[in-house]
Amino acid sequence: MFKRRAKQLKQLCQMQFRAAALRVALILLCSSGAATSEPFDAGCMVAETSPEPAVTRSVLNELIGWIALRTDYDVSAVYRDPPEIVFCHVGEIVEYEAEGLLVDEILAAAYDLTKRRIYLVEPWSAEDSFDLSVLLHELIHAVQLDNRDWPCTGAPEWEAYMLQSVWLRYQGIVADFDWNTIYRLSKCPTGTGN
Ligand SMILES: [Zn+2]
Repeated sequence: MFKRRAKQLKQLCQMQFRAAALRVALILLCSSGAATSEPFDAGCMVAETSPEPAVTRSVLNELIGWIALRTDYDVSAVYRDPPEIVFCHVGEIVEYEAEGLLVDEILAAAYDLTKRRIYLVEPWSAEDSFDLSVLLHELIHAVQLDNRDWPCTGAPEWEAYMLQSVWLRYQGIVADFDWNTIYRLSKCPTGTGN
């Protein structure tokens, strides 16, 4: 429970951990969750063993459809061309917004806007509602950033966590988020308009 709680509280998204990112070039062991198993172009290599959990198109459609129903955002771009899904493991360093991002044990997911890529940290399972909500959270970021400009990188977080918690509630799960921390995360520095 502690581990999962830590994951919920510190679910990494967007660029919040950029300051902590290590600019170290390493060979990564990431792999794409897409139907094909071709290596993606970030210098990562497909893991040779241990099959990755797949994110099917129907799972994506369901989550994107839910965002469409619950928000006024135009989801058509994300629906037509969903972000690439890449799985990574704790201890790896992934390419993130042209920098290196250390995947630490409290990182659950991240969305790289530049590459339109969602990183999901294993273990992750489409059978697990909370894991699905983590994917939903990152898809929300993809939609948010497609639809409007935001005054600072943390600004989309409040809405993303709120929607995630609503989705979880529909699954019968009460999100144990630390709303004070999320509020601070979402608050832009003075003078940035939020
Ligand atoms: Zn987020």
